[in-house]
Amino acid sequence: MSYRPIITNVREASSNEKSGLYEFIINLADGTECRAFYNRFQEWKMTNISRLQKTPCPVCRKDFICKCMESFTGELEQQIVENQWIDKALAH
Ligand SMILES: [Zn+2]
Repeated sequence: MSYRPIITNVREASSNEKSGLYEFIINLADGTECRAFYNRFQEWKMTNISRLQKTPCPVCRKDFICKCMESFTGELEQQIVENQWIDKALAH
């Protein structure tokens, strides 16, 4: 069974407008929480993503650090664009 992350919320954790670096907390439908770093120059681009170790990884089931979420970067970025999550996160 292949895992498919579904984003339910994105919120801004920190930002540096001058350098264009943003940190977002992404909530997924299965309870997984991820921290994603974005660089907005020249366009919004996810530069790093990692799972917050609050719940076991939905992919490998480890409850310590793993790199599984990195392989879903494209999928997550697509959802973020389609649902305008960054605009919503920055509006608050
Ligand atoms: Zn994992």
